[in-house]
Amino acid sequence: MNPFKFIWGMFFRLFPCPIRTVLRRVGNPGRQSPVLVTCNFYITVRRLIRKLDDMDVWLLIADSKGVNVWCAAGGEEFNTHSVVSAIKTSGIQDLVDHRNMIISPLSAPGVQAKEVQKQTGWSIRWGPVRIEDICAYLKNNQHRSEEMKRVTYNWRERLDTAIGPLFPFYFVGAIGFLLFGQHLLLNYLAISAATFFFFMLGCPWLPGRSGLTKVIVLEAILAISLVAAEIYVTPNTFSIRADLIIAMVMLFIYGSELGGLAPTMPSDLDPFLARLGIGAVGNVAFAGTVRTELINGLRELTYYREKCVSCRSCVEICPQGCWAFDDEKHAVLTKKEKCTACRACIVQCEGEAIKAEAKS
Ligand code: SF4
Ligand code: SF4
Repeated sequence: MNPFKFIWGMFFRLFPCPIRTVLRRVGNPGRQSPVLVTCNFYITVRRLIRKLDDMDVWLLIADSKGVNVWCAAGGEEFNTHSVVSAIKTSGIQDLVDHRNMIISPLSAPGVQAKEVQKQTGWSIRWGPVRIEDICAYLKNNQHRSEEMKRVTYNWRERLDTAIGPLFPFYFVGAIGFLLFGQHLLLNYLAISAATFFFFMLGCPWLPGRSGLTKVIVLEAILAISLVAAEIYVTPNTFSIRADLIIAMVMLFIYGSELGGLAPTMPSDLDPFLARLGIGAVGNVAFAGTVRTELINGLRELTYYREKCVSCRSCVEICPQGCWAFDDEKHAVLTKKEKCTACRACIVQCEGEAIKAEAKS
């Protein structure tokens, strides 16, 4: 293990943490062994190899510019070309007798299964969403339970995902307090941590859909407390006021970028920055992207039933379970309100029946 890469990958996930794009043997794979394809983000590969401890598989690490699968696929850094080029250059074609690869369904917004098959002859099988399920999936004859198909973002996943993007902000904030307000440094660290845990644990139950609406109630309570402190508390209230203001600022930060912290929830920041003409932060591009325009209401998900070829890709790939099949074996968008605009169904639809069209 490379401790520097581990710390960098864990706590500075806004920035890439690439490793070499190679074909790796895990265990003692043979000609019939499964072929797994993943991105070249250090933490993902490390976790995957640890989970595959007692399995014999080929692990093909494809170029995602060192970014995790979901972010890279969303930003199209992990794409059809990455996978096609990994297959063609790794030598895997000479090492196995089959032509099936298993890949995370979180890569579906970037990697188009139909195009990969056309260019290489390899079929994509969508594996489980969570790395934790990979062994169960392989041992169960590569069968996915419904749970393995869906992104739920339970409290542990929310905390895990959110710590990485926020850590650089905490770091910069801590340096600022160290230089200009040392007496408040401990308050800042404690309040940042407390508000973070409170908000990330409780956000599904807070009213509203977007992050900023979810923090409104909390901000209002803190603002009333601030006014009350001004009016009723003794002169020595600087620390209380500072604590409340820090809490309000931190909650505003979490709320405005909830989509980046828990990707099943919409982001308020991306559309806002896009309107200001700011196109990307770090590796994540959003201005002019279909996803941002869908979230922003400039486009809407449209479905042309007559074009549906019943390939089932939308049903299999949607991380939110928004699609179902009717009695005539056509897709139906049954849970539009749960759509997070990931674009996976649009990219994978074999009949080009699903589109993101501009609102008239
Ligand atoms: S319906 Fe929405 S969430 Fe589901 S795959 Fe399509 S774009 Fe993604
Ligand atoms: S992905 Fe497209 S063609 Fe396939 S079932 Fe869904 S709507 Fe129909």
